[in-house]
Amino acid sequence: MVHDGHRAVVVDPGDAQPVMQALQQSSLQLDTILVTHHHQDHIGGVDELRDATGATVYGPAGEVIPEPYKHLSGGDSVQVLGLDFSVFDVPGHTAGHIAFYCPDMDDLPLLFCGDTLFSGGCGRLFEGTPAQMLASLDQLAALPGNTRVCCTHEYTLSNLRFARTVEPGNQALQKYTSECESKRARQLPTLPSMIALERDINPFLRSRQPAVIRAVQAVNASARDETAIFAALREWKNQFR
Ligand SMILES: [Zn+2]
Ligand SMILES: [Zn+2]
Repeated sequence: MVHDGHRAVVVDPGDAQPVMQALQQSSLQLDTILVTHHHQDHIGGVDELRDATGATVYGPAGEVIPEPYKHLSGGDSVQVLGLDFSVFDVPGHTAGHIAFYCPDMDDLPLLFCGDTLFSGGCGRLFEGTPAQMLASLDQLAALPGNTRVCCTHEYTLSNLRFARTVEPGNQALQKYTSECESKRARQLPTLPSMIALERDINPFLRSRQPAVIRAVQAVNASARDETAIFAALREWKNQFR
């Protein structure tokens, strides 16, 4: 949720109840609901919140979201609470997944990337191809380093366990893991993350790094070009326990 003290915008409300509670606690009016993709844990609260508050809903044109909503795709822009958001197409996790990027909120850029990029990881490829996901992640990785990354799941510690298996010698990753473990031990979120940090620690943004290529090829010797390396890395994570 982002708010200006009076009005609020929420992203991917899987459940209406915690949103209603937060609105009441801070005496906020829900102005806008942004939706990144069609999975139930991202849209489950949309109808109830729209009915209760009259909020405007924006979502991906290429997916089925509870109507009525304003259909968006890459290249569109939306004004929300006086903030300008650009819309990116980021297929891979789902076929019509979109992300919302605001270049300046309180002097820092802000990204809502749904289930495309997680801290230390990325979404599973349910509908898209590895090539699509790699291109989507490349687009997000190219954003300014100080962009705050608001992902939709707190999967960080489990992602970092895999990341350390891929890159055991990555010092930034070791340091970040300690910070995240300490936050989680105090019941704090590890999110939002930052793009510059993700470039240093997230194996899915580092699949062209020699150390990552070597690790992937040790598991899957047939992975050669960059798409195959990325696909094998994602597949390795799917099997990782
Ligand atoms: Zn999802
Ligand atoms: Zn999800």
